[in-house]
Amino acid sequence: MNGQVARMRNVAQISPGIWAGFTDAATGNLAFHVGDEAAAVAARRTALNHELAALLGTDVNLAYMNQVHGSTVAHVGGGHRPARINPAVDVPTADALVAAGGPAAGRGLAVMVADCVPVVLGGHSSLGEPVVAVAHAGRQGVELNVVAAVVAQMRAAGARNIAAQLGPSVCGGCYEVPAALRRSVGARVPEAFATTSWGTPALDLPAAVTAQLAQLGIGAVGPQACTMEDPRWFSHRRSQRGAWPEGRFIGFVAAAPHARPIRQDNLGSTDPGGLFPS
Ligand SMILES: [Zn+2]
Repeated sequence: MNGQVARMRNVAQISPGIWAGFTDAATGNLAFHVGDEAAAVAARRTALNHELAALLGTDVNLAYMNQVHGSTVAHVGGGHRPARINPAVDVPTADALVAAGGPAAGRGLAVMVADCVPVVLGGHSSLGEPVVAVAHAGRQGVELNVVAAVVAQMRAAGARNIAAQLGPSVCGGCYEVPAALRRSVGARVPEAFATTSWGTPALDLPAAVTAQLAQLGIGAVGPQACTMEDPRWFSHRRSQRGAWPEGRFIGFVAAAPHARPIRQDNLGSTDPGGLFPS
């Protein structure tokens, strides 16, 4: 990572002209599938697009996906969807997205999470064309090595010097699983084998994804926080245990060669409805 922290919290240039970041609970829920009001979700997504466009100096229209804990990679083109298409329905069923070339990469990609590992990636072809990608790596995504699938597609699109960033996700000290599951996942990805802070079997998904990327020669930055421990982000497991609202934040990446960092500390401040409008 180049370390050029932008005006928006959690947004950084991960490769020259490629910007990535993570929203948080203050931005509000960005998923249609968690029981939230669809109009409110759509409004938050639109506000985020506008905010990112203003930040990055390019037209942003983040592409989302219908995530199913698999390893399917979908390719996103550069066209903007007509308004009549329902964004809650008309998205690819996949757990990773790739966009190659200026118009497609500039549109931007999003991955929704609330404990699973959001992975954002960027690189360039030998001609300097940006190739960006996102991946959703939960326990099943780690077992299926979804990051290897998406990196293969990025490289097939010509990407070199791929940089990756992992966003807030449940840590190995919190993600308790049955001993048999730790054994089977750990047999496949040894770095996943972990123990909770209270001494029971656990999985360390961020460590596993970092190791899977390292095997591909890709260094990863992050995550900077554990979703279960830090209420600034949504956590599915924390929501199930208590009164925390269910929601999803996103990791996003977009090519914006002319973006100029300025300071702004409240991503999503234009959110019209807060976390969950009543
Ligand atoms: Zn934790």
